[in-house]
Amino acid sequence: MKHLTESELEALRAALDAEHASLQEELAMYGKKDVTTGEWEGSSADETTMEEADPTDAADQIEELIVNVPLVAELQKRMHEVEAAMTRMEEGSYGICEVSGEEIDFDRLEANPAAKTCVEHA
Ligand SMILES: [Zn+2]
Repeated sequence: MKHLTESELEALRAALDAEHASLQEELAMYGKKDVTTGEWEGSSADETTMEEADPTDAADQIEELIVNVPLVAELQKRMHEVEAAMTRMEEGSYGICEVSGEEIDFDRLEANPAAKTCVEHA
């Protein structure tokens, strides 16, 4: 990642940090974390009462799940990408195309700091 200046790298790191924080927030809002695996899954706001709730509440909860499960899966996928990019930054392999090994332009990284490939191999 020699093609990136110190200040460019700093800006990209800040962008990754910010995105990571907002993803965590959204995940906490729409999902719950499995304590054993550390993975998130979609949940309704109050699923503890699912079995005893009256039918209207139960229906609301199911509706929430229908929306939240795929949403959380999407958020979690993005979070893994962001975390992988943060790891590459630590390891010094950040900003290198996974396919060709070429340097990824700053413009592209600025648009998507978690990008794993150059535009050509996207
Ligand atoms: Zn490439």
